Amino acid sequence: MFGGKTALVTGGASGIGEAAALRFAQEGATVVVADLNIAGAERVAGAIIAAGGKAAAVAVDIASDEANQVLFSTCRDRFGGLDAAFLNAGILDNWAEFEEYQTASFDRMLAVNLRGTFLGLKAAMPVLRPGGAAVVTASLAGLLGLPPAIGYSTAKHGLLGIVKSLAAPYARHGLRVNAVCPGSVLTPMVGVTEATPLVDPDTLEAPPYRGDLHPQHIAEVALFLASRRAAGINGLAVPVDAAFTADFGESNPE
Ligand code: NAD
Repeated sequence: MFGGKTALVTGGASGIGEAAALRFAQEGATVVVADLNIAGAERVAGAIIAAGGKAAAVAVDIASDEANQVLFSTCRDRFGGLDAAFLNAGILDNWAEFEEYQTASFDRMLAVNLRGTFLGLKAAMPVLRPGGAAVVTASLAGLLGLPPAIGYSTAKHGLLGIVKSLAAPYARHGLRVNAVCPGSVLTPMVGVTEATPLVDPDTLEAPPYRGDLHPQHIAEVALFLASRRAAGINGLAVPVDAAFTADFGESNPE
């Protein structure tokens, strides 16, 4: 899917981003693995190189405008541009009822998950080559409220506003911007540190209804959205949620 192309993944050191970085590489891309956790990014880039692929690890704090500009100018200078930018890095705060929820948590969620991704897109879009695409990781919590994590949910809802607002202007440049909205995924973010090995994508099994997904379930959709196969999809928020948003739930049939 990505032979001769260059893909960047933020949050590439762990979870969904790690799965996506490995899958982009398996599909032929040179992969820029960007993360605050540079040791983790180097581990993932090293695994790609050990498997015969091409990768570079770059440190970035997505909350910093300057760091985003350095990251994407590095992509332009070293690789002549990007074909896919998967802006996936994010954080989840401690859960708290609204009455106890700290304003500082709200600010941090918006600073990293919303403003950070905005800054990433601002720096990434001019570096994407025509035919390329950006994909951001929103969340099911960007489609539905998540009462114990109001800042997180607000930030993820906000990302969809950015994605929809960029679709039309960048269509003129031959670029697309979409969001993937994962349900619950087994990653360190939700306390699951054991990585699930990647499988042949054509043998990937469906998660149980409303059940936990594996990082690869999200990575495959992100790759598809970033690829020419999704050329007709622009400005969309795609749930990857094992039917969570499809109905009222088995326990609440009314
Ligand atoms: P994860 O914690 O395994 O990975 C997140 C990665 O982002 C880590 O490597 C971390 O170092 C990096 N990161 C955090 N802050 C950063 C910053 N300021 N700059 C650069 N890198 C930073 O979690 P994950 O589940 O793979 O999360 C990836 C994305 O998926 C996030 O945006 C998250 O909100 C979203 N998401 C996760 C779930 C889930 O259930 N795991 C559900 C919906 C959406």
